[in-house]
Amino acid sequence: MIPRPAQYLLRFDDLCPTVEQHRWQGLRDLVLEFGIRPILAVIPDNQDPAMECSPADPGFWAQMREMEAAGATIAAHGFQHLCEKHSKNLIGLHQKTEFAGLGLEVQRQRVQAGLRTLREHGLNPRLWVAPRHTFDMTTLRAIRQEGIDYISDGLARIPFTRGGVTWIPQQLWSPVEKSKGLWTICVHSNSTMKPQFLKLQSFLRKCAEQFTSFDRVVAEFNPGELGFTERMYERYATWRLQLHRKRTRHRRKRKT
Ligand SMILES: [Zn+2]
Repeated sequence: MIPRPAQYLLRFDDLCPTVEQHRWQGLRDLVLEFGIRPILAVIPDNQDPAMECSPADPGFWAQMREMEAAGATIAAHGFQHLCEKHSKNLIGLHQKTEFAGLGLEVQRQRVQAGLRTLREHGLNPRLWVAPRHTFDMTTLRAIRQEGIDYISDGLARIPFTRGGVTWIPQQLWSPVEKSKGLWTICVHSNSTMKPQFLKLQSFLRKCAEQFTSFDRVVAEFNPGELGFTERMYERYATWRLQLHRKRTRHRRKRKT
């Protein structure tokens, strides 16, 4: 059943010791102020220069442990966030990937190394988040073999099972008020500018009560494979998002 009124999950992406300190501090303050239990998508061993936005914070891992103890859920955000290869993938929003198109053994080694790194830092990763939404059926097999049963991705309005794992959909990159469904809002900690921050803050002022947590979603939903209507919705939502991204790319190209 699609929940009504809508429920929201907040997910912060690209967390690593070199996350943009000032912006991340502001976002953490919001989490505290509104009592949100977010998903923290942590890059286990960042090697992506684009994620080096501040000098490495020696207190980063302790901060992640504290946030987890306070109710946040840790997600492994790939392994090194190095998306060097192009490949077809299940979501189809991006092409560059750290995982899709690779063989099971390589993917499994990367998943395993990521999970191990997070555990060595005293964290307990409960779900998996692909860098750039790029993964394939082999990735799902790899994460399942490594004991992870949940991913945060997909464009349906309810959690569902596919490829042997449960998908908790992630459909928004900025808050939008919805009448029904479970909506994950993904916030990129490195690039949240003042207007986006203020938009999130005012949304939380209005809708904080409707924010749920990974634990509650696991306890309250009983996911199965998507029915026909929701599959059609998912297809339509994917098509709309791909079109929107294509148009944005074209506009940017015309400007440059
Ligand atoms: Zn990322």
